[in-house]
Amino acid sequence: MTPAERSAPAPLAPETLAALRASVQHGLPRAIAELSELVRIPSVSWDGFDPGHVQASADRTADLLRELGVFDEVLVDRAPAPDGTLGQPAVLARRAAAPGAATVLLYAHHDVQPPGAESDWSSPPFEPTLRGDRLYGRGVADDKAGVMTHVAAIRALVNAAGEPEVGLVVFIEGEEEFGSRSFGALLERHRDLLAADVIVVADSDNWSIDTPSLTVGLRGNATFSLTVSTLEHASHSGMLGGAVPDAMLATIALLATLHDADGAVAVAGLRSHDQRVPSIPEQRVRDEAGLLDGVSTIGRGELLHRLWAQPAITVTGIDAPSVQNASNTLAPSITVKISARIAPGQAPDEAFAAIERHLRAHAPFGAHLAFASIDLGAPFLVDTSGWAVDEALAAMEEAWGTEPQQVGVGGSIPFIAQLAETFPEAQVLVTGVEDPHTRAHSPDESLHLGVFQRAILTEAVLVTRIQRRARAQGHDVH
Ligand SMILES: [Zn+2]
Repeated sequence: MTPAERSAPAPLAPETLAALRASVQHGLPRAIAELSELVRIPSVSWDGFDPGHVQASADRTADLLRELGVFDEVLVDRAPAPDGTLGQPAVLARRAAAPGAATVLLYAHHDVQPPGAESDWSSPPFEPTLRGDRLYGRGVADDKAGVMTHVAAIRALVNAAGEPEVGLVVFIEGEEEFGSRSFGALLERHRDLLAADVIVVADSDNWSIDTPSLTVGLRGNATFSLTVSTLEHASHSGMLGGAVPDAMLATIALLATLHDADGAVAVAGLRSHDQRVPSIPEQRVRDEAGLLDGVSTIGRGELLHRLWAQPAITVTGIDAPSVQNASNTLAPSITVKISARIAPGQAPDEAFAAIERHLRAHAPFGAHLAFASIDLGAPFLVDTSGWAVDEALAAMEEAWGTEPQQVGVGGSIPFIAQLAETFPEAQVLVTGVEDPHTRAHSPDESLHLGVFQRAILTEAVLVTRIQRRARAQGHDVH
């Protein structure tokens, strides 16, 4: 069933929504001040940066959560990474649900990317600076705004409606920008504390500063190297060329079978995901990619369907004689690196098997193939059949006053699949406070303060809706 075929959840009572709106507005100056305080702590989680700042950032975040006065416990913890080193400090908090009420987990991360050269910034990266509607600084959007969205939404809820009945879990990671190395160990160690019915991951994007989006799909990936061999050794291309195939010929012929004449992937068994996408003008993609005059796009269907919901295959590297060293010989073997994006809904091992089967079936002249360095990442598809998606879309519409977009992203956030695996019963919602001008990870990262306010209100409305729903449905909240 598509969301449109289901009946939308009822709107919040106007006085409830008005009270939340007023409470969020009233709390906004304090939220911006506390966000600025967090941004002044340069919590870069990478090796080679002072881990004391990440600890200070975790401690301040824990204090902000304690000051809310609603949690049974707030703790800062570090768990080991797979290589045995200790991960960066995460902050965890839990408030038990009233009997029959659901529990919501709110995720964000308090660590940031390195700032890069300070001279590339218009104002110092760790001195939050307001210009127009935007606050500038490293981490101001990604993802300290996510941290403060959770804090400010809970505060607004309590101020508007008193102590919540809904259970609340907050999980603020300390090394998302460094590969979430200890994420799995933290999930293991705190499984009971973190258990929830709905998980809100506030670390994604919005369609624009006026239109919210719910991220519902992330592509996975399959990366590997492929060696194509036809000869035991190199030979003079004049003596034997034309009678025996060189590996370059075989490689070119083989790689050419991966796409059809439109440039669409032509591998049987690689699936697309059936999803509706918004239309965007081709010029937007042309501009973003820097497509040259006269060069066409590739593939078929809506552009965003190609980017979010269809597979893609790119040859990203090739080991072969360089042009300068190209003697007149038949190359015996060639190695290429292939990077495939997998549509949501397909398991990465199944997708890789389809690609391998295709390559073996199409190997020209009986060329020998060897596969190595296989790296697979799972796509993630939000199960939009759950009620939490309906409530989230309704909350966005109430908070922003406009219909939200359901969007995909071309890349993957591996930890989301990890969360969903650990808590298979939970409904996952991927939200965010970024917008197309945020420039996360880049100089002049910024947060639009209108988006910040609407994101806080969205979350306060969403939690209120979940609380109302759980109350109405007793224990049937799963
Ligand atoms: Zn982030």
